[in-house]
Amino acid sequence: MKIDILGCSGGVGPGLRTTSLRVDGRILIDAGTGACDLPLVDMVALTDVFLTHAHLDHTVGLAFLADNRIGQSERPLVIHGQAETIDRLHAHLFNWQVWPDFTLLPDAGHPTLCLVADAEAPVICGGLRMIPFPAVHTVPANGYAVEHAHGIFAFTGDTGSGAEPWAALNTLPRLDQLMVEVSYGNARDDIAAIARHLTPARLAAGLARLHHRPEVLLTHAKPGHEQAVREECRAALAGWRYRHLCNGETLEV
Ligand SMILES: [Zn+2]
Ligand SMILES: [Zn+2]
Repeated sequence: MKIDILGCSGGVGPGLRTTSLRVDGRILIDAGTGACDLPLVDMVALTDVFLTHAHLDHTVGLAFLADNRIGQSERPLVIHGQAETIDRLHAHLFNWQVWPDFTLLPDAGHPTLCLVADAEAPVICGGLRMIPFPAVHTVPANGYAVEHAHGIFAFTGDTGSGAEPWAALNTLPRLDQLMVEVSYGNARDDIAAIARHLTPARLAAGLARLHHRPEVLLTHAKPGHEQAVREECRAALAGWRYRHLCNGETLEV
């Protein structure tokens, strides 16, 4: 399985792109600003988008993907997520007020987007098994474990501290790579607690609950916090195989 890291920053700025992963050229997990860098031909080649939650840094690219794809593709782009995520997108983004309702354009029989509330159970897509698992965030959120021919890759999406994600990951038969957020340095634990994100210390506590020993791939550092996160992870993640992801890199798993 090939994963292009289109965006893995927790915010915007020169060279920074927000969360979007492209799997095997056809599937996105989240559609942050990183998705907006794709050439039109690659946008049209997408079949499905799996959303972790409705926050703008993970969904804003959908607005522009839809606008670019209208009239360019025979098939709608299928957007998967929890019911709460899908409802928020429809009510607050594709509502004719902020942006057109692309589930009705160019006409209801040939929509540009198809919104599907199906992230309560595993979905088979492009030969992959997309397994949702709970995250702990300020809005309903989930991660995805992706079961492919050679193993299982999991992405938490945005999450704060809590037992649920780790307990769910422990039910998997294996876990080869875990892509997990770490947004703030330990000194801003106050913000991490309110915004339900992880710090290196919070991440280490979560990993201590995990029965698997995956490679840990770090993402979602907030602008200005990258250096503190990197320095503190050296101690917090001692003994773990880990690295910080970069926008634009490709993983073969
Ligand atoms: Zn979020
Ligand atoms: Zn986020």
